Amino acid sequence: MRYYSTNKQSDKVDFREATIRGQAPDKGLYFPEQVPQLDKGFLKQLKSKTKTEIAFEVIRPYVGDSIAEADLFQICEHTVNFDFPLVKVTDAISSLELYHGPTLAFKDVGARFMSRCLGHFSKNNKREITVLVATSGDTGSAVANGFLGVEGVKVVILYPSGKVSKIQELQLTTLGQNITALEVDGTFDDCQQMVKQAFTDAAVNEKIFMTSANSINVARWLPQQFYYFFALQQWKGEEAPVISVPSGNFGNICAGLIAAVSGLPVKHFVAACNSNDAFVKYLEGGKFAAQQAVATISNAMDVGNPSNFVRVLELFNHDFEKIKSFISAFRIDDAETRNTIARVFKQDNYLLDPHGAVGFAALKKYLERYPSEKGLFLETAHPVKFENVVSESTGVAVPIPAAMQEILQHKKSSIRIKASYEELQNYLLK
Ligand SMILES: *Cc1c(COP(=O)(O)O)cnc(C)c1O
Repeated sequence: MRYYSTNKQSDKVDFREATIRGQAPDKGLYFPEQVPQLDKGFLKQLKSKTKTEIAFEVIRPYVGDSIAEADLFQICEHTVNFDFPLVKVTDAISSLELYHGPTLAFKDVGARFMSRCLGHFSKNNKREITVLVATSGDTGSAVANGFLGVEGVKVVILYPSGKVSKIQELQLTTLGQNITALEVDGTFDDCQQMVKQAFTDAAVNEKIFMTSANSINVARWLPQQFYYFFALQQWKGEEAPVISVPSGNFGNICAGLIAAVSGLPVKHFVAACNSNDAFVKYLEGGKFAAQQAVATISNAMDVGNPSNFVRVLELFNHDFEKIKSFISAFRIDDAETRNTIARVFKQDNYLLDPHGAVGFAALKKYLERYPSEKGLFLETAHPVKFENVVSESTGVAVPIPAAMQEILQHKKSSIRIKASYEELQNYLLK
């Protein structure tokens, strides 16, 4: 399989090169030259397959010759070695819980897959790879956890001091081994700016081989398809489900769309958005206009200019009618999100996090129009990660899961630096 850049100014590359580079040199996103078609027999036997077998079968054509099959199978096994339960919430709506990974984030799957791929590629590399990443919280911990102990890869994470939650900070700063946390006296934007500057610094690039663990990386984007297969594996409806995806950068929903185009039976997709509604407006009017992001209680979806929008266009050859036939979109504001958390807890005894609540509310709106259909939404975060909002809405404290209890016992270890590029440069060059 070869990947072209959506800006069409860079050379085509294989999976290995696309993973190592992250973004194409022309600043486009890599996109597969063809969407592979799934074997009908595989779909028929979905229910009897293991999670690893499904993951392997789905990702193999995208990886091509870049990784030998036995190695890829092991990578898949490691990537999906936790649960993805589909839980019934109401008669018509189920929840696919994606928060049972090591950092309770749905981004665990992409981060685990990408880290093992990079580790594999660096085996034949003489030079160690340094993954440099700025985080406002969740992405950093999923990436750090994914890369922990991977040989030939070093991870340097920048996070804004005092601006991540206590649990998030412990998730970043207590791992040790090949993970270093730089605690920056500044904001997330400062961290991101410093990382960007490092990538363009000739002196640093000469000394160390760097890559980013950005969410646009194909090795983080494509394995998100697995969720949709795990959903279908557990689906008991006669007809294919409507699937609602809480969306920010649109990487997750775009992975679902590519799975559907390759043959997975999905009735329709719902893009569940918070007040950052550029995509909702696009579907209403056919024109896309980037927005300034606004802050909401589902903050992992606070994106005004979704980076994977261009992949959605590419997948459907920029055909607006076709896109509309696959996807509907709804905007759910904070008040409605809080009401949804409260109502679903009271009526259905199910605890939603704010992101899942946007997914639930959007799906409910869609099913009001099409009452004979049934669906599921992706629950992308554990409610405990948004304990304030959730307990305020329900009036009940969120129990802390065992995995989080444990981390509270660990001691933080970080290197404190000022929000100046010089300090990062010094650290990288030393
Ligand atoms: C990242 C994230 C999302 C949004 O996913 P995209 O692929 O960016 O659309 C939704 N919910 C949670 C909890 C997230 O961390």
